[in-house]
Amino acid sequence: MTEHGTRTKLVHGGTKRSQWNEVSEAIFLTQGFVYDTAEQAEARFLETGPDEYIYARYGNPTVAMFEERMALLEGAEDGFACASGMAAVNGALTSLLKAGDHVVSAKALFGSCLYILEEVLTRYGVDVTFVDGANLDEWRAAMRPTTKAVFFESMSNPTLEVIDVAGVSEIAHSVGAKVVVDNVFSTPVYSNAIRQGADVVVYSTTKHVDGQGRCLGGVILGSKEHIRGVVEPYMKHTGGSLSPFNAWVMLKGLETIALRVRAQTEGAFAIAEATDGHEKLERLIYPGLKNHPQHDLVMRQLGAGGTMLSLVLKGGKDAAFRFLNALEIAIISNNLGDAKSIVTHPATTTHQRLSDEQRADLGISDGLVRFSVGIEDPKDLVADVMQALDKV
Ligand SMILES: *Cc1c(COP(=O)(O)O)cnc(C)c1O
Repeated sequence: MTEHGTRTKLVHGGTKRSQWNEVSEAIFLTQGFVYDTAEQAEARFLETGPDEYIYARYGNPTVAMFEERMALLEGAEDGFACASGMAAVNGALTSLLKAGDHVVSAKALFGSCLYILEEVLTRYGVDVTFVDGANLDEWRAAMRPTTKAVFFESMSNPTLEVIDVAGVSEIAHSVGAKVVVDNVFSTPVYSNAIRQGADVVVYSTTKHVDGQGRCLGGVILGSKEHIRGVVEPYMKHTGGSLSPFNAWVMLKGLETIALRVRAQTEGAFAIAEATDGHEKLERLIYPGLKNHPQHDLVMRQLGAGGTMLSLVLKGGKDAAFRFLNALEIAIISNNLGDAKSIVTHPATTTHQRLSDEQRADLGISDGLVRFSVGIEDPKDLVADVMQALDKV
């Protein structure tokens, strides 16, 4: 499978059929597995025992198919599926770190990721330094002999700044630190952070992988040695494993993710082109436009602008709310990567917990609207955005 193209891997990768030879992947909705004899049970529990299933928190055939398909897509050797994106971020970091270790992290983070770095890791004696992720000099200056890991979102939420995976990896590796990347906004379709130098990549599969707003899920990807030696022992004993049902939904999501993400990108590009320079906007942020400050890096790292854009309205919160309320196709919610277009006002929802200074520092102004573009017809989305802007 590894030599096939992405779309082929997404449809067939990881599939294992039962004795019934079903077409669609089976859901093994079972918590446990029967042993023929007491001796067989004893043998399976041995560290050196056969690699067969024991308990769904440790592994399950449907979950294993999902892990293998995700690993093929990312170009990673192995993966461990988690109950949510946050179980994956927490598992990836906590399994790797101990008291006395130092972590360097980009400061522009999803709220719950920030909580893990600021509140959880520090409580257990891990030292954390935050840097401006787009500035390689800051990464370089923050490294210490005790730096065990670096962490960042390869494309930040909601200002869509791109972090140079290869550049940060080179700096981190020079002091022997592992590179852990949250790659959600870049999507596994466009960006393979592992190939660019990252050691561990995490996804919230709640986003583009499910892509239809049904289930929570996550995955940690990396080398076989790291996933089976470091991540799996931590995850299987601490309870953040993915349910077989959710794994099945995610497997079906993977079959169409490349088609959906490309259709979403087409819509995002159309909206960006139509609204760039609009009189009601202070700024339009879309990584796929030539005026994005990191357009060269975007093209090198992702090869496309992605499915997300941010519109900064003149007139602050009032204007942003009027725009949101006037949209007829895009719905107001806080998921992203969905087949449905979804708009969010970060300052009053996802980033409400931050102080005014933190929001200002991250460029999250009251006029900013985050737009996760769905698979609807681009011309309808553009017309919807234009009529909503007219009403502001
Ligand atoms: C959504 C998201 C998460 C968390 O994922 P859940 O599945 O909601 O737990 C982590 N990082 C980023 C960048 C996200 O967008």
